[in-house]
Amino acid sequence: MILGVNGQAVGVIVAVHLASGALGGALMPSRRSAAALGVALHAVGDSIPHHDIASRRFEVACGMGGVLLLAITNGPFARTTLGAIASAAPDVEHVVRLPRPGGRKLFPTHRVSRWHRAGGVTTDAQLFVAGIGLGWIVGAHARRRNGQPTSPIA
Ligand SMILES: [Zn+2]
Repeated sequence: MILGVNGQAVGVIVAVHLASGALGGALMPSRRSAAALGVALHAVGDSIPHHDIASRRFEVACGMGGVLLLAITNGPFARTTLGAIASAAPDVEHVVRLPRPGGRKLFPTHRVSRWHRAGGVTTDAQLFVAGIGLGWIVGAHARRRNGQPTSPIA
């Protein structure tokens, strides 16, 4: 979760965006399609009712740490890394002041308040799923590098 203009939560936690983008990117045939899917997955993640973590510091650390982990293990230009970056990138506008046409943020799910609803998926569940997803991507890459069998993705 990252807080919006009036302190309201505006998106699913960044670790989930990273994990979904990395997993989606692994399934795509190209870097460009991995990035496009990552952005689409951000909108999907924001639209799922969820609870938020009220710590911008935690979210930024998770985002930067996740991208660094993927860049080191999978490569900075791997489909998984680019998908994760594209999926997390829209939330940068919660941290960095970007132009706000009409006083509202740029990304569609951040502009329309009903697109973000509190409740539903707990923060613990989100962190668990994100950890499993990122762990799977990083582990699959390491197994492939070591000549061991991997899953169909990653
Ligand atoms: Zn968002």
